[in-house]
Amino acid sequence: MTGVVSGGDPARREQLRDSLAAVHERIERGCAEAGRDPGDVTLVVVTKYFPASDVLLLHELGVRHFGENRDQEAAEKFREVRHALSEAGAPGLTLHFIGQLQSNKAAHVAGYADVVQSVDRPKLVGALAKGAHAADRTVQVLLQVSLDGDTSRGGVLPADAEALADAVAAQQLLQLRGVMAVAPLGADPDAAFARLREVADGIRARHPGADWISAGMSGDLEAGLRHGATLLRVGTAILGSRPSLL
Ligand SMILES: *Cc1c(COP(=O)(O)O)cnc(C)c1O
Repeated sequence: MTGVVSGGDPARREQLRDSLAAVHERIERGCAEAGRDPGDVTLVVVTKYFPASDVLLLHELGVRHFGENRDQEAAEKFREVRHALSEAGAPGLTLHFIGQLQSNKAAHVAGYADVVQSVDRPKLVGALAKGAHAADRTVQVLLQVSLDGDTSRGGVLPADAEALADAVAAQQLLQLRGVMAVAPLGADPDAAFARLREVADGIRARHPGADWISAGMSGDLEAGLRHGATLLRVGTAILGSRPSLL
């Protein structure tokens, strides 16, 4: 293994190294304040809109979990990244799909994503399972929960979450791992993530293996840590502002 596969721009590398270190410091501090072990928290770096070269630089800097929210972009970028890593004999990575998922894309996503964090309706469950069978792989699943009663930006209502959890658990190649949420815009993230934790506890009572909670982004990762987040999804604080294309 050479350890250097990005051939990346040294100035960008330095920028990413510094912002990544700052986020790790926030996580350490947030865990200390919440009385948590940082070893129980996984940082997923959200690389949507940013190029494969940034993913490779972050990988060199030790990042192993990446998040993407659009099927085509994720598939192309990570095919390139995985090829480069494997050519270099470098360690692999875990790819988390975190975006709203159309059911006609779900089978495709099941072919390359290791974790799908945004499952929010029964129709996706069947489509993902089909894709997992076709690709002969296991996909880990989080249920995306809507915390403001508005499902237009994705998410299952808390009242429907347990039935959806049962549907995932019934699929052999889908592994139910827990829940994910985005704090509603303008709402207090602490209240939202406290509610998420209740939903998570209800699901875990039925499915003991489903003990992951994905909560907290650049702006509210400390609130996530206060309410049991085991996965943080951080983009902007590490990569900078995304181009406002969409
Ligand atoms: C883009 C995105 C993130 C990252 O948000 P930042 O504010 O850039 O850290 C996290 N979660 C989801 C679901 C996203 O779409």
